[in-house]
Amino acid sequence: MELNQVNLARMIIELQDLMRLNDVDIEGEIVSKDHMLVKYGEDSMVHGYYEIARSINKAFIFINEDCEEWEQTVIHEMVHVVCDQFLAYIERKKQLDSFGDTVFEQMIERLSVGFLNAWIDNECLLDDD
Ligand SMILES: [Zn+2]
Repeated sequence: MELNQVNLARMIIELQDLMRLNDVDIEGEIVSKDHMLVKYGEDSMVHGYYEIARSINKAFIFINEDCEEWEQTVIHEMVHVVCDQFLAYIERKKQLDSFGDTVFEQMIERLSVGFLNAWIDNECLLDDD
């Protein structure tokens, strides 16, 4: 499926239903490779990231325009949104060290694969292309 603003917005809406995430206002944005380089530095191959305004339950998902498996990245970032309150709790206690960060990312990725399969099984967007 082509990465464009319409497909990104539709996928986010479908996933919000699937993931019971309707209480968060989520906006998707496609960003350039240069944007990612400025944000994450030369060496990074970042496909996407999210930002959240916790006080107003508004999240932004940013997807690298060069990302090939962008659907997977959208889901990954949405699982981050699901887990954000837990992360906020951890951050109040102490910053995650690199082991904790790795474990957290592995958990996010495993959940993402589950949601990706559920999304594909639901034949959401994939149907009408
Ligand atoms: Zn992540």
